Amino acid sequence: MRYAVLGTGTVGRVIAAKLASLGHEVTIGTRDPQATLARTEPDAMGTPPFAQWQPQHSQVRLGTFAEAAAFADIVVNATAGAGALAALEAAGADHLDGKVLLDIANPLDFSQGMPPSLNPVNTDSLGEQIQRAFPRAKVVKTLNTMSCTVMVDPARVSGEHHTFVSGNDPDAKKTATGLLASFGWPTGNVIDLGDITTARGTEMLLPIWLRLWGALGHADFNFHIASA
Ligand code: NAP
Repeated sequence: MRYAVLGTGTVGRVIAAKLASLGHEVTIGTRDPQATLARTEPDAMGTPPFAQWQPQHSQVRLGTFAEAAAFADIVVNATAGAGALAALEAAGADHLDGKVLLDIANPLDFSQGMPPSLNPVNTDSLGEQIQRAFPRAKVVKTLNTMSCTVMVDPARVSGEHHTFVSGNDPDAKKTATGLLASFGWPTGNVIDLGDITTARGTEMLLPIWLRLWGALGHADFNFHIASA
């Protein structure tokens, strides 16, 4: 399959590398490829510049958001929450038409400092905003409730633990669940929460995820849903 991974941060790189290792054709999307390759300093989170990562992943192409989306069968949104709608606008509605759009972003709002708050929250979600803005895309919110290293390697966390899918299109959720299986997620550990409005719930797990990260001192943990 051909994948567009929109986002040059840690998450986009980890997902792109995993997809490429599974034999998929992958293009990472960015606003300005030349500017992205020209960066020489780590970002605010300490992520090394893209140009340092790229030589070890030469099978992954870099293009504009539009070039990446045009090329793809499936699109992954791994952009900053505050920039996600702009990034998808730049990708182009025509290039998202009828495609599964996996949204793994979180609407973290850093404008008031740390820890971030959520915007939107409670009565709306980023997943819904994306689905409303691109009604012909098949948005599936998933994987946003854990570290990206766990997304692509669930065995990093011992024992049973879970991820979620939220979306309006049952077939798109099946496609997402199949992809998750190829990442190592047993199908029984993927909980279908329902339509895209249920993304409110998984996005609102972020405040507790962030506190757990602080309390545990590492990111190799996940949610286990105990059930009768
Ligand atoms: P990030 O720094 O949050 O986002 C980087 C990407 O966002 C870049 O590709 C950047 O474009 C794009 N971007 C930022 N502002 C933009 C704007 N105004 N318009 C268009 N594009 C914009 O990267 P990250 O840390 O890898 O996180 C990606 C997403 O995954 C976030 O939503 C995050 O909350 C979520 N998430 C992260 C983790 C994790 O383990 N870190 C886990 C779960 C979910 P350029 O390439 O052009 O600079």
